[in-house]
Amino acid sequence: GEFKPIEIKTGDEIEELAHVYNEMMMKTNAYVEQQKRFVSDVSHELRTPLAVLDGHINLLNRWGKNDAEILDESLQASQFEISRMKKMLEEMLALARLENVDLSSSELDCDVVKVCKHAVKNFALVRQEFEIELIQKVSEETRAKIYPNHYEQALSILLDNAAKYSPDDRKSVIITIDEDEEYVITKVSDKGIGISKEDIQHLFERFFRADKARNRDIGGTGLGLSIMARLAENYKGKIEVESELGVGSTFILKIPKLD
Ligand code: ADP
Repeated sequence: GEFKPIEIKTGDEIEELAHVYNEMMMKTNAYVEQQKRFVSDVSHELRTPLAVLDGHINLLNRWGKNDAEILDESLQASQFEISRMKKMLEEMLALARLENVDLSSSELDCDVVKVCKHAVKNFALVRQEFEIELIQKVSEETRAKIYPNHYEQALSILLDNAAKYSPDDRKSVIITIDEDEEYVITKVSDKGIGISKEDIQHLFERFFRADKARNRDIGGTGLGLSIMARLAENYKGKIEVESELGVGSTFILKIPKLD
C-alpha cells in the first residue's frame, strides 16, 4: 500500500479526526490491494484453460478435418476447458456477491434440516453410485442465521468435493447435523483421498488445489473452499477440516443459531 498515515498530535478533536481518517484509508487500501490480487489471480487462472483451448484449436485446424480421432478428442477437451471456465466465472460471481450480506436481515433464517434433506436428495439423484447417509442430531425446528440458499450452496460445495475426491471403491458420504450452545454444526465426511498436513494450511486460499497436476483431470477450480471460508466469515461462523491422507476428510461448518 502507498497510503501514509497523517500524524497530528494536538490531543483534541482534530487528532481524533486524523485517526478516524487514517483507519478509513487503511481499510480502503487493504480492500483495493485485495481487489488487485483477485484480478491478478483470476487472469492467471484463466490463462491455462485458454492456452489449452488455443492448442486444441490449432490441432483441429491442422489435422482435425482429416483425422476423426483428433477431431473427437480435441472437441471433447475443448468442451471440458470451456465448462471449467464457466464454472470459474459462476464461482467468482458467487464470491463477489458474498461480500455484502446484511447480517441484520430477517431473511437470515434457515431451516437446516429441511435444506439438508433437499441437498441430500439432489446429491443422491446426480450421484447414484454414492452411498449417502444423513445423521440428524437436532430437532426439525433448528434454524441457523444464514440465507437458505447460501447454506445450500455450502452443502453442495462440500458434497461435490466429497464426490470429486473419493475413489470409485470408496464412494460414501455421511452428513451430520448437530448443535452446541452457539452454532448449528454441519459435518460432511468422506472416505476419499484425504489431504496432507501441508495442503490443509492452504486449503481455503483462492485457486488452491492440492496436487495441481493430478487434479486437473478432476475438473475443479480451486474456488469452492474459498467461497466456504468467505461464507463462514460473513455469517460469523467457522469452517474447519479434519483429514488424513488416504483415509478421508471431514469438513465442519458452524453457523450461528437463530434464537
Ligand atoms: P476444487 O474446485 O479444486 O475442488 P476447492 O476450493 O473446493 O476447489 O478445493 C480445493 C482443493 O482442496 C481441491 O483441489 C482438493 O485438492 C482439496 N479438497 C477439497 N475437498 C476435498 C476432499 N473432500 N477430499 C480431498 N481433497 C479435497
